[in-house]
Formats: sequence, C-alpha cells, structure tokens
Amino acid sequence: MSWTPTTEDRARFTLQDLISSKIGFEQLAIARYEEICDRISDFVDSHYDTGWKRNIKQSLDSFILRGCKPISRRWKSVDPAAFGILMYHRCTPPVECETEPTWNVTPDQLENQLRGLLDLGFTPIPLSTAVKHHQLGMELPPNAFVVTFDDGYANNYTHALPVLEKLGVPATIFLATAYIDEFVPFPSDDWSCSGKADPISWRPLTLEEAHKLNKSELIELGTHTHTHDDFRNRPRDFERDLEISLEFIKREFDIVHPTFAFPFGVRRFGFSSDELIRAARKTQVRCSLSTEGQLAHLRQSPYYWGRFTAHQTDDAHLLAVKLSGWYSRIKQGMRKLAGR
Ligand SMILES: [Zn+2]
Repeated sequence: MSWTPTTEDRARFTLQDLISSKIGFEQLAIARYEEICDRISDFVDSHYDTGWKRNIKQSLDSFILRGCKPISRRWKSVDPAAFGILMYHRCTPPVECETEPTWNVTPDQLENQLRGLLDLGFTPIPLSTAVKHHQLGMELPPNAFVVTFDDGYANNYTHALPVLEKLGVPATIFLATAYIDEFVPFPSDDWSCSGKADPISWRPLTLEEAHKLNKSELIELGTHTHTHDDFRNRPRDFERDLEISLEFIKREFDIVHPTFAFPFGVRRFGFSSDELIRAARKTQVRCSLSTEGQLAHLRQSPYYWGRFTAHQTDDAHLLAVKLSGWYSRIKQGMRKLAGR
C-alpha cells in the first residue's frame, strides 16, 4: 500500500475490500478494533464522568487502544483451553413493518459472519462435542467455536439451516417446547411487529419443521425450558418446567440428555443463578448456558458456560474479537471498575 489510510478511511473498510485486495488484512483488523475501542470507550463514558473517574477513563482508553492493536495481528485466544459460543435468535430477511425485527441476524449477514470466521481460521464444532471434550478431558481444535439459536423460530429452519448447510457449520437450536406448532408469537418476543408481519419472521417452529431440523446432521436440538418463563427465585417451578420440556424432547426426538440454555440467561440479574443451576443439574440436561458474554472453559463445568450475542451489526472480525476472549476480558475489567 502506498498511502496511509485516515481513521475515516478505516471506518469504511469492509470484508469485501479485503477480499478484493483493496486493503490488507491488518488494516481491516485495526479498523475493526478501533470500532470496538470506540464502543468500550462509550461504555466507560457512561460510567466515569467526573473528577478522578475521568482520569481513570483516559488512562483506560489509551491502554485499550494500545492493547487492541497487537491483538489484531493474530486472532489468538486468551486461553487455548477456552472457546466461544455464539448466540443467535431470529434469522429473517428484511421485513416490511414500522420497526426492525429484534434479536435478528439476516440470512445474508449470518452467511457473511460464519464464512468470515471460517476464512479467519475458526473451527465450528457442535455443542455436544464441546461437552464431551470437557467430560473426557480432551483438547479442542484451535479457535473452536459453537453456534446456537434460542427459542425455536421457524426461520431457523427456513433461513438459517440453508446457510449452515451451505457452509457446513453445525448448530444447536434451543427449543421453548410449549410453543412448537403454535401460531402465536413467543411471549418473550419483544418485537412490536410480531404477530402482524410476515409470519416467518416471528412464528415458532412447527413440529414437522423441528423434526426436519433434527434429521439434519448439522443440527442438535436442545431445551430452553418448556414455557420460557421468568424463573428467578423459583427453582422448583423451573425444575418442573424443564422436566416437561425434557419429556417432550425425549418423546418427539428420542433425545435423552439434551443441552440446555437458560431463558433470558443474564447471570447478574438472576436468570442463571446458582440455585437455578443446581435445579438444572438435578435433571437430565448436559449443560446450562447463560448469556454472559465470556469464553467457555473446558476446565470449567458446562453448567456455567456463557455465550456471546451475535448482532446484525457484527462482522466476522468483531465476532473474532469476542471469540478470542479479548472483548470479554476488557469488558469484565470495566465492570469491576464500575462496581457492577
Ligand atoms: Zn429465549
């Protein structure tokens, strides 16, 4: 390259520029890191706004900016025994309605994200493989990652599965079993157009679609409880509800020890608390995933593994930063300092 890109140039760099050799990998990587640093900076801004806190913020900013750049040269995990789990929900193309679908990654963007991660050397593995490796004390391939979808939207079958099959990426779909075959939006669906926009953008899977998913070699079905209720401080209700879901999954799909992800899942708000984890362990589930944006460790119990949300605006490089562990490490540090 015979010119030095400005920050504005960098902000415009895309994966397409890299593929068409208009820019180098490192420039794109640095651009993405700067984007992340901006986001972190915004987070810090909202917590450190006066006096000595402001000084801490400035030191942190420059530390993060300096710290981010070397990482961009290698997508190396902060810990070789750790791996990342991505969390998706809806996978619908753009819909005509007054608001954008929430918790959505379009099929095109899903393909961009996953293809980009494969190109960066990440290796997708099924969640059950990760659990098995934990149990047997075996290592995972370098840069392993897991793909999961929550709730059981019909578009996981109609739109996500073709992308996964095209790229050969395995995924787990966590079913809220009470809503299979129901033509109503999930009670947890916060999108204002659910129920009125094109049904494929909001309706739950039919039983037939769930069976077709289960037949795919790439798909594993897991449970997300039966009713997807708020079970905070209600471990007994939670256990009973989970058991209903387990009976359903055993009866319909002949799966005895499915994987499990907590509904809502945020640990600090009590959705994946210790008492709920204890209740989950009494059942047949093989793991209980939270929505804490942190790496999963093979040495750690899979009942405590967290997941990273994959957003529509994330490109593969941003997901790579999450999956390599640096994103959560910095964010945790921020939280600690913010006393949260
Ligand atoms: Zn959910």
